[in-house]
Amino acid sequence: MSAFDEHRRLADPIVVVGGGFGGLAAAYEIAKSGRKVTVIEKEPLVGGLASGFQVGEHTLERFYHHWFTNDVHIMDLIKDIGQSDKVVFRPTRTGLYYANTIFRLSSPMDLLKFSALSFIDRIRLGLLVLQVRRIKDWRSIEHLTAREWLISLAGPEVFRVVWEPLLVGKFGPYAEKVGAVWFWKKLALRGGSRAKQGKEMLAYYRGGFAELAESLRERVEGLGGEVRLNTAVTGLEIADGRCAAVRTDSGTIPASAVLLTQALPQIADLLEPHASSEYVESLRRIEYLANICLVLELDRSLSETYWLNVNDPSFPFVGVIEHTNFEPPSSYGGRHIVYLSRYLPESDPLYRMPDDQVLDFAVPHLQRMFPDFRREWVSAHHVWRARYSQPIAEPHYSRLIPPERTPVENVFVTSMAQIYPEDRGTNYAVREGRRIGRELAAHAAAAANDADMQRATPLAGRAEIVGDAAE
Ligand SMILES: Cc1cc2nc3c(=O)[nH]c(=O)nc-3n(C[C@H](O)[C@H](O)[C@H](O)COP(=O)(O)OP(=O)(O)OC[C@H]3O[C@@H](n4cnc5c(N)ncnc54)[C@H](O)[C@@H]3O)c2cc1C
Repeated sequence: MSAFDEHRRLADPIVVVGGGFGGLAAAYEIAKSGRKVTVIEKEPLVGGLASGFQVGEHTLERFYHHWFTNDVHIMDLIKDIGQSDKVVFRPTRTGLYYANTIFRLSSPMDLLKFSALSFIDRIRLGLLVLQVRRIKDWRSIEHLTAREWLISLAGPEVFRVVWEPLLVGKFGPYAEKVGAVWFWKKLALRGGSRAKQGKEMLAYYRGGFAELAESLRERVEGLGGEVRLNTAVTGLEIADGRCAAVRTDSGTIPASAVLLTQALPQIADLLEPHASSEYVESLRRIEYLANICLVLELDRSLSETYWLNVNDPSFPFVGVIEHTNFEPPSSYGGRHIVYLSRYLPESDPLYRMPDDQVLDFAVPHLQRMFPDFRREWVSAHHVWRARYSQPIAEPHYSRLIPPERTPVENVFVTSMAQIYPEDRGTNYAVREGRRIGRELAAHAAAAANDADMQRATPLAGRAEIVGDAAE
């Protein structure tokens, strides 16, 4: 490629595929550096898994969302865009449903009163939290499954009552496969999100995560970037081992570089025609669970608990999250909002159940848990599904994570399944998105500099020759 062509190519935007928090954070950094960036999002709105929908005049997440107090990367970004005053921190009430009883589990004191376990086992459960904090290097437990590790720390009874139902509830057929590192990091991060008295504190964004995503979109556009909604990327145009453009369902967009932020199997589909079968298989190797959330708008509260873990295998949802015990009902026109969440394989009948049947299916189970509950309390309901919602971090997961670089020179990947040893979350999507966004911008600036030099050198040489001849 000539220096002129190279220069022209570098003037094309860096294309970011996906307008979730990872893609928006990357685009923000690229736009801030002064380089052209175009975000392409197939949905009619930004935010990805953390996007929202309308509840009356208010916006609510499709899937429940909050932050921990140690989610510093998202807080940094919010500060950077001048929105810190919208973040609220509140204590939350956590509980556990076991043997038809709701136990409160928000503080160390609640733990001591947890009568589902013998006193000795309550102490073991409490000590486990301290043992978790002592692990500094996750590699030392990466060969273990969560089951092996938890039993070794607190014994089989604590595992049977507390952890096994949660593992099975969250991971279903994959429960035995989950690695110790996933569980360790979850416990460490959630355990670290506490106020001084040991009570759990969580954070939320006034107006919802969707509003934050919208602010980010506006910021990217304000810095000269472009965000195209309702546009699905359908292919990559590759020439000489580089991606020259992305194909979409509404035309082709030239690209100087491409950042793919979707789930790995979706990235595999785009790269399949241009990469070896071994590489494409490596992208398909990590398995993902889907998620279904039934969101209820109620005319009254269900309980006082925000986050209820369900340790009862006969209850078909693993979490009952009464969002309005965290963000008040006044934010939703007086409505009480409850999410019933279940992670499940895509083939599960509940995932495929028509929306209007999901409520019928859930009501008798809710009545068993909350005997006063009546279907008439439900003024509206919504069903949301996400096919790629939770990667399965099995033992030795670090060996499965694909690198950011792909076989195509200027195509890069930053995806939820690469977050490790932490579990996926908007905080980490933003951390990784901003980092790779800065790197791509710096790389583009250096390449543009090189191209400028190359272009300038032959011209300078010619001027000298002309000058010599004139003399
Ligand atoms: C049930 C549930 C609860 C959660 N709770 C929390 C929580 O409490 N706190 C928290 O921080 N995180 C939570 N998360 C995780 C969080 O939502 C994700 O980690 C984060 O949003 C991932 O952002 P991302 O940008 O990496 O991916 P995504 O949000 O998946 O973004 C990828 C984007 O790519 C788009 N896309 C895909 N294919 C194409 C294509 N061909 N062309 C164009 N666009 C395309 C998608 O539409 C999507 O918008 C939760 C997730 C789930 C499922």
